[in-house]
Amino acid sequence: MQDILIKNGLIVTAERTFKADLLISGGEIERLGDCLDCPGGIEIDATGKYVMPGGIDAHTHLNLQIGDNKVSDGFYEGSAAAAFGGTTCIVEHPSFGPNNCSLMHQVDAFKKEGNSNSVIDFGIHGVFQHVNADILSECANLMAEGVSSAKIYMTYSGRLHDLEILSVLERAKEVGLLTTYHAESNDIIDFLSSRLSKEQHKDPYSHSLTRPTCSEAEAIFRLICMSEALGGVPLYIVHLSTAAGLAAIEGAQSRGLEVYAEVCPQHLILTDSCYHEPDNRGLKYVMAPPPRKKEDIDALWQGLARGTIDVVATDHCSFSFKDKLSRGRDDFRLAPGGIPGVETRLPLLFSEGVLKNKISLNRFVEVVSTAPAKLMGLFPQKGHLSPGADADVIVFDPHLENEKIITPHNLRQNADYSPYEGMSVRGWPTTTIIRGQLVVHEGRLLVEKGWGQYVNRKQAVKASTVTSMAGPDRAS
Ligand SMILES: [Zn+2]
Repeated sequence: MQDILIKNGLIVTAERTFKADLLISGGEIERLGDCLDCPGGIEIDATGKYVMPGGIDAHTHLNLQIGDNKVSDGFYEGSAAAAFGGTTCIVEHPSFGPNNCSLMHQVDAFKKEGNSNSVIDFGIHGVFQHVNADILSECANLMAEGVSSAKIYMTYSGRLHDLEILSVLERAKEVGLLTTYHAESNDIIDFLSSRLSKEQHKDPYSHSLTRPTCSEAEAIFRLICMSEALGGVPLYIVHLSTAAGLAAIEGAQSRGLEVYAEVCPQHLILTDSCYHEPDNRGLKYVMAPPPRKKEDIDALWQGLARGTIDVVATDHCSFSFKDKLSRGRDDFRLAPGGIPGVETRLPLLFSEGVLKNKISLNRFVEVVSTAPAKLMGLFPQKGHLSPGADADVIVFDPHLENEKIITPHNLRQNADYSPYEGMSVRGWPTTTIIRGQLVVHEGRLLVEKGWGQYVNRKQAVKASTVTSMAGPDRAS
């Protein structure tokens, strides 16, 4: 593998911004410094651009199938889209496996699929679909297999009940497993959803009415109480969407509990008015939790800036609009839920967050790369640019000349729509390097499927506390 020298760029990390060259050798970061050279290697001129650690998306469903509904990309197309968007590693949430299967069943299946098809590195979350003594004893094995996080659903048919959650939490504390939660109150949602159906309201907007903000906040608060009852067990809340949920998390953190939160671009950008798009186009946005109101969006941005929220991930789940429409036209509840987003995470967060002064440039790098690396057990191998780390690096173009209007046609992702269609965004990566290999450069994908590797993840380390608030420390 040839060495790579990235010259004249502005290095941006979670802590600071400075001008330096960056030398990559043997798949690792070799050195940062002035006027480096690299005889015989590849030289990339990054004048006027940022050089950052590659993005880490802690929440994807590239390869999901639920019943007859399958997402439109799969590991190959989905990981290629991620690479075009500056993401060098994902942690994939597998779907449920056969009844009563072991915890490793789905991890093994997805690992195999990823090893054959992914072009970027990946980890796999575990998923609890039932709980018994065997499953609890398997938790230690999960950690040994590099699966240091596992998901629990509090809603849907595969949900766990509180007694089961408590027993998992107790075990997770013993073995150091980070449990992650889709936190919504199943009973509130079921109740509202069946009541609405009797009254014949089955349009897309009703989707948001059946999942009110209190249904998220209640579930988060209940979890926090369960953690507290066991003397404090770390929790990771996926796709936080409400100010009320955020307040519960903030309260827990102020009592010294380890509660981490992830937010997705859809909940930072879209509002529930999206469901009013004519001709059933609101079905595009069927996802759980749904987009909320402006007050929630404002609160989430503030929570992200001050560090109550640690991570920005996508929950990428690209069921096609065609499928959503054919199944959900007469009843939103039949539309498969989820939206594509793995490719647009960095540009959206940069444009809406950094350029609008809601988060600093360094905080941007922290929430898209460094903090997820720490919480997902990928640090110090990934998520930063110090010598010895994997050379997962992106060259990122912040300039106005490269502003792009989002349409499904100018994205790599294999989706027939984008929920952000029509938005004008800046901050597209021009080069994506993974373990010292050019993966995307000058608009082309340069590796074969299967080039991505499964990463053995370690126990989570705390995401750092924020010191850099939103402010004018941008360098361009
Ligand atoms: Zn998800």
